[in-house]
Amino acid sequence: MKIAIIGGGAAGCFCAINAKRLIPESEVVIYEGGNKLLAKVAITGGGRCNVTNSFKQVVSTERVYPRGSKLMKHLLKVFSHTDAYNWFEEIGVPLMTQEDECVFPVSQDAMEIVNKMDITLRRLGVIVKLKNQISDITTLQKEYDCIVVTVGGKPKISGMDFLSPLDIKCVPPVPSLFTFNIKDKELHELMGTVVKQVSTRLSGTKMTASGPLLITHWGMSGPAILKLSSYGARWLAENDYQAELAINWFDDKNEEEVLSIIKDLAETNQKKLLISVYPNIFIQRHWQYLITKAGLSTERRWMDTGPKQMRKLASMLINDTYRITGKGAYKEEFVTCGGVALTEINKNTLESINHKGIYFAGEVLDIDALTGGFNLQAAWTTGYVVSKAIAEKYYSNNV
Ligand SMILES: Cc1cc2nc3c(=O)[nH]c(=O)nc-3n(C[C@H](O)[C@H](O)[C@H](O)COP(=O)(O)OP(=O)(O)OC[C@H]3O[C@@H](n4cnc5c(N)ncnc54)[C@H](O)[C@@H]3O)c2cc1C
Repeated sequence: MKIAIIGGGAAGCFCAINAKRLIPESEVVIYEGGNKLLAKVAITGGGRCNVTNSFKQVVSTERVYPRGSKLMKHLLKVFSHTDAYNWFEEIGVPLMTQEDECVFPVSQDAMEIVNKMDITLRRLGVIVKLKNQISDITTLQKEYDCIVVTVGGKPKISGMDFLSPLDIKCVPPVPSLFTFNIKDKELHELMGTVVKQVSTRLSGTKMTASGPLLITHWGMSGPAILKLSSYGARWLAENDYQAELAINWFDDKNEEEVLSIIKDLAETNQKKLLISVYPNIFIQRHWQYLITKAGLSTERRWMDTGPKQMRKLASMLINDTYRITGKGAYKEEFVTCGGVALTEINKNTLESINHKGIYFAGEVLDIDALTGGFNLQAAWTTGYVVSKAIAEKYYSNNV
């Protein structure tokens, strides 16, 4: 059994190790275009590698995998986050789960993952061919019994050209997980301000995301924004990253509930100025920005603020809108939304429906997730599923 793996990243190396373990007599060859394996894994999680997630806070797979959730739900039953956790501990990488449910190596060093995977695959006898960029898949087809495509996400559809002889449908790639540019000098002055729990929405759509929000010197970032960028990745690309962002600073509270918070503040602090008393989710400079934006004077006293003005403030605080003028960089993590269309592959084996013997795993597929270890989990899960499918086919042909 000869297996060629195109791409020595997370999915490719994981698939190679498992294929070799399941079929020890096979010849497994990794073709990697770069000069080292697992180059991206080395920089994941800011060099710490958020290897997976406990999934304890995951309400539904749909919310975590904006593209490919149905397939991931199905495949996680075959190789779950717990399987990944045990797999890495077995190859000698002790792991720990943070309070936010993200899983990292105890060493806090992504290189430990890289080195232990590298040692494992070389010990098993996987052949590694570095600086071997594959530009023609048909040549490999003549040499190998099966080919696993694990080339990762491509920023442009032209990156998938080497698959063109197969005529496989690809969903055009667009970036996911980015920050929002907002042109607003007063807002930029609040850079570094964090509000712990807000809900955000792209106006005119049903896309919403909640979590902490960070004001930056170019606009907005933080988990709530990154999530929203992921849900809205394609829609935002289609709209050339011009959109309206609506923020509810009080998360899921409605206008009446926020109004009652403001009324309570007013009642207990009648003689004080609007600027000096504010809900404890804000810092003073941020509150000043918001009341000014609502058209109220910061020098007014609470006792001089009428019911209409209070309602105006409450209404603005739950639907505070900003013009997004572009996307910003998020250095920690970015992934591609798009890739090989899931309609092209068998859901159980990840084998091409029209080209037997060709399999896909990892970010090359139209699967992507939020931050938190879910993207690497997709690489481990799909990489494992392919190795298992190849082994099952091999053994059923050799009985
Ligand atoms: C900065 C950063 C930080 C991240 N941090 C995290 C994190 O902490 N947790 C998490 O879950 N996810 C994280 N991600 C996302 C995660 O790294 C990817 O989803 C994951 O690496 C995808 O694995 P892959 O094997 O599919 O692709 P890749 O890891 O990109 O590997 C693809 C490999 O294929 C090679 N290749 C491409 N084309 C060819 C070709 N034609 N011939 C031969 N070789 C080829 C490439 O050189 C590359 O080595 C991060 C991403 C980035 C960019």
